[in-house]
Amino acid sequence: MAGYDNVPDYEIKREIVEIAHMMNRKGLVGTYEGNISVRKGDKVYETPSGNSKELLTEGRIITVDMDGNLIEGELTPTSETPMHTKCYTLRDDVHAVVHCHAPYCTAFAQANMAYDDPASPEFQILFGKVPCLKYGTPGSPEIIEELPKYINDYDVVFLQNHGVLGVGSTVLEAFSKIMSVEMLLQTYFIRKMLFPEISCDLPKEELEVLMRMHDSKRGK
Ligand SMILES: [Zn+2]
Repeated sequence: MAGYDNVPDYEIKREIVEIAHMMNRKGLVGTYEGNISVRKGDKVYETPSGNSKELLTEGRIITVDMDGNLIEGELTPTSETPMHTKCYTLRDDVHAVVHCHAPYCTAFAQANMAYDDPASPEFQILFGKVPCLKYGTPGSPEIIEELPKYINDYDVVFLQNHGVLGVGSTVLEAFSKIMSVEMLLQTYFIRKMLFPEISCDLPKEELEVLMRMHDSKRGK
């Protein structure tokens, strides 16, 4: 397990606040959207419901148990808490979860489109594919219905009509993966706008090499 087990509480809260500010600075969240969590044993530290990520401070971070019940803090747990706790119960190697409505990712999610980019070696090695999980009302159990189907194989997934979810061994890692997909999508978008007629796909043999690199990176 390890992860955050030996990290002091104040340090965990500091990391969450830093990434929340970073998400806001980079334009990945509106004022009240998105949430971040960290698992330490059976305790989950998370950003509370309806709080600005820009103005978030350590004192506003709450803790809940794995069933989403409030343990510490004055503020309300986000209705998206089950999305976070489900990731932790499905994967032992996941110690942090980040969810936001990053614009390019969310455009794909709203269109119910998975993302695959055979033109980008970086995308192929790092992600292989970003699937889109079928729609569920935000905060409802349906939103996590398809998580078990995908989260073991993918660290970043789109949520149909909603946004994006990333997991990692640290908050920075989970956030960086979302940021990376968002940046790759920006390039994809510009390429499609400027050069709609040009196929930029890498040859099949090269894609196979990259897929093997992707698999070995994931320890397959
Ligand atoms: Zn959301």
